[in-house]
Amino acid sequence: MTTLAEPLLAHASRTLPRYTSYPTALAFQPAADDALTRAWLDAIQPTDALSIYVHIPFCERLCWYCGCHTSVPNGYDRIAAFVGQLARELELWADALPPHAGAGHVHFGGGSPNSLTTADFTDLMASIAHRFTLRPGAEVAVELDPGHLDSGFALGLGAAGVTRASLGVQTFDPDVQRRVNRIQPFERVEAAVADIRRGGVAAINFDMMYGLPGQTPDNVAASLETALSLAPDRVALFGYAHVPWMKKHQAMIRAEDLADVAGRWSQAEAAEAVLLAHGYVRIGMDHYAHPDDPMAAQLASGGLRRNFQGYTDDPAAVLIGLGPSAISAFPQGFAQNASRVDHWAAAVETGRLPVARQLATTAEDRLRGAVIERLMCDLEIDVGSVCLDHGFAVATLDEGLASARMLAGDGLCTVAGRLVRVSPELSRLVRVVAACFDRQPAPAPKKHSLAI
Ligand code: SF4
Repeated sequence: MTTLAEPLLAHASRTLPRYTSYPTALAFQPAADDALTRAWLDAIQPTDALSIYVHIPFCERLCWYCGCHTSVPNGYDRIAAFVGQLARELELWADALPPHAGAGHVHFGGGSPNSLTTADFTDLMASIAHRFTLRPGAEVAVELDPGHLDSGFALGLGAAGVTRASLGVQTFDPDVQRRVNRIQPFERVEAAVADIRRGGVAAINFDMMYGLPGQTPDNVAASLETALSLAPDRVALFGYAHVPWMKKHQAMIRAEDLADVAGRWSQAEAAEAVLLAHGYVRIGMDHYAHPDDPMAAQLASGGLRRNFQGYTDDPAAVLIGLGPSAISAFPQGFAQNASRVDHWAAAVETGRLPVARQLATTAEDRLRGAVIERLMCDLEIDVGSVCLDHGFAVATLDEGLASARMLAGDGLCTVAGRLVRVSPELSRLVRVVAACFDRQPAPAPKKHSLAI
C-alpha cells in the first residue's frame, strides 16, 4: 500500500470527468426535435449489433450519497404508469430502427430496477428481447438494491433472461450504513446473492464505496473482506462524490465528516490491497474482476471498452438508451433523453423519441475520444498511431502530449516519444492524464468529482 505524496496529492484533488464518454454529457446541447437522432438510426447497418440501456428512475429509499437520477415513488401507481410509458418508448425506438444484427447487451440501471414488480420486469424484458432481437449469448445485466430485493424477484431473474446481477453493496459497516441512510445487514446481501444464484444468474457484480462519512482504511478493508466471502465476479470501487449543490439530499452528509484527499486515497488503497490479495485483476481506474470473468480476458486482449455504465466488454458501437435521462450513443454522436420523468413521458405520448439533448461529434472529437478511451482502459496509448488510424497527422495531439510530459515530471505517467503510460499502481488517477487530450477549455469543477 502506498501513501500519496505531493505533488500527486494535488493532482488527486482535481475535479475531473469520469470519461464514460467523450465529449462528456456536459457538452450536449438542447435538441429541438428527434430528427438528428432518427438520421443516426437510419445509418445503422444490418451488420451492426446493438446495446440497450434501460433507466428505471425509482427507488424504495433515498441513500444520502446517491448521485443517480432517481426518486422515491411512495406507492406503485407512479411506477405502473412509468412502465406503460416505457413500453411505448421501446416501440418508438424499435420502429425507428432499420435492419440490424440484434442486441448483444442489455443493461437495466437506475434507480433500482427491482422497484418494478416481478411481472412488470419480466414483461419488459420479454418486450426488449422480442422488439430488439437478442443475439445468441447476449448479456443481460441488471442493477439491484439488495436492501429491498424481493426473494421472488431475485429467483425469477434467470427465467426472465438475466445473466448478470450487479448489487449495490457499498459498505458492511453498520455505522457508515446508518450515516448514509442505507441499512442492509450482511445477512440480507448474502440471502440476495443466494436467491439470485439459485434463480440461475451465475455472474454477480458488487459496487463498493470509499469516501463515505465514517469510513476508514480499516473498515473499508473489512467491508471488502466480507464482500469477497460471497465470491462476486466483479467489484467496482467508487469514491463518494460530494456535490450537494447538484444533489440536494447529499446535504444530509456533513462535509466535515468526510475524509480528505489523502484519507480517500488510503481508503481506496486498503480496499485494493484486499482485492489484489484475493487474486482479482485490476481493470482500469476502479474495477476489479475475478481472473475467470470475461472482463479480465477483454483487458488482456485489448478489447476492454468504456461506456456510460463504466468499463464493459460490450463492443457495440450503437447504444440505445430507454427511460428518463438515458443516453444513446452512435458513431456520429450522442442523444440524451429528457431527465424529468414528466418531460420524458410527454414526449413519448406525442410519438416523439424523447431526446432532449444531443451532440454531433466531429472527427477530432472521435480521435480524442479514442485516445481517452484506450488510456482509460489500457493505461497506455500510442497517441501518434491513433492519430494516423483516424486519418490525422501524427502530431495532431502533440499539445496534449506536452501536457502529459508535465504530469510525467510529477511521476504520474511516462511519455516516450508519443507513447504515454500510467503505471497500474496509479491507475486510480488515469483520468488526470486522460484530461490532457480533452479539448474542453474550461474545467467545470462544480460538476465533476474528485480525481480520487
Ligand atoms: S438504491 Fe441506488 S439508485 Fe437508489 S437512492 Fe440508493 S444509491 Fe441511489
